[in-house]
Amino acid sequence: MNVLVVNCGSSSLKFQLINSDTEEVAAKGLCERIGIDGRLVYQPAGGEKEVTEAPMPTHTEAIQMVLDALVNPQTGVLKSLDEVEAIGHRVLHGGSKITESRVIDDEVVEVIDECCDLGPLHNPANLMGIRACMKLMPGKPNVAVFDTAFHQTMPPKAYRYAIPTKYYTEYAVRKYGFHGTSHSFVSKETIKYLGLDPDNSKVIVAHLGNGASISAVQNGKCVDTSMGLTPLEGLIMGTRSGDLDPAVLEFVCKKEGFDVKEMLRILNKESGVFALSGNLSSDFRDLEDAMNDGNEDAALAIDAFSYRVAKYIGSYVAAMNGIDAIAFTGGIGENAGIVRKKVLSYLGYLGIAMDEEKNKIRGERCILSTEDSKVKVAIVPTNEELAICRETVELVNR
Ligand code: ADP
Repeated sequence: MNVLVVNCGSSSLKFQLINSDTEEVAAKGLCERIGIDGRLVYQPAGGEKEVTEAPMPTHTEAIQMVLDALVNPQTGVLKSLDEVEAIGHRVLHGGSKITESRVIDDEVVEVIDECCDLGPLHNPANLMGIRACMKLMPGKPNVAVFDTAFHQTMPPKAYRYAIPTKYYTEYAVRKYGFHGTSHSFVSKETIKYLGLDPDNSKVIVAHLGNGASISAVQNGKCVDTSMGLTPLEGLIMGTRSGDLDPAVLEFVCKKEGFDVKEMLRILNKESGVFALSGNLSSDFRDLEDAMNDGNEDAALAIDAFSYRVAKYIGSYVAAMNGIDAIAFTGGIGENAGIVRKKVLSYLGYLGIAMDEEKNKIRGERCILSTEDSKVKVAIVPTNEELAICRETVELVNR
């Protein structure tokens, strides 16, 4: 089955056309600057990247450009759009009502719409992409795969905040967690890869990318995760602060004359390792180079990031009363050996031993722990598009 996987942001749209039988990507690309001017980057498998500038006032024109590129007689990969059998959409927020991926019908559209409040940057864009696909490919099944759904198995003790109940009952303020598609995919892959018992396993997934989150997955179900009502909570990230005393907001706002909105922008966009490194970079390649050149701020940024990851792992070992495996994924988790080494250096008490040679591996699935390590540690690359494709096929065939 050919599945078009679509991930819409407010002014961008990423896509992949995946053959679900071979799980190979036939073509991929992105539309940028939607609503501003418009630019399509399209790449067929084994072919050159092609860039086309064309007006994209809305997501509908952007999707139309993608569909035209897919059937282009020269560089297209399909003879006709009839060959697209289903569309899988990444959707940010499904609130508490959505606990799994869903074939999109009026009710699902309504829930995504209701959750715009909780995901104001993403949910409206996700809906625009869904509506554009429904309009341009009428009759084809559309599936929504939610970033929050995998975390809906968390118990109340993990997702409730200790603030007045009214905020929960009336405004749905609670921990939701994000990156669920990745945590679900990677935890399943880890269980298969390491030969664990799916019904009796304790896995921690560290999804360390520009946005970073960690989850505790017991018997295949999420029991806790680090992101919260929004993706700001938890780990230190590229430009996000992660956990901090909420009183910092008022304190700095008063000193600087900011309002809460401006402060949240700073906590999302100007904080994290970027801030700790003295605004050097949010990219771990730059930070590692600078650290190796003796830059102490860069060294602190990498240390603080790794320390926070290790502390979360420790708390999730407690949450599950044990641990069988830790999986590193995301751009940093898959590539930055320095971070993996620093994180694992805090976890010797768990009987973890790492193979230094294996830790030089980048971006490939591999077992990092030694034979006698009490806990298995692995790099398990994430593939959110493939995860969305698999979910879409499963739902369409149900
Ligand atoms: P996101 O999907 O959240 O944008 P990714 O998972 O793609 O992020 O991760 C991107 C980050 O991964 C980069 O900002 C960088 O910090 C890190 N990264 C990517 N490649 C490498 C590498 N070779 N070595 C170290 N870090 C890397």
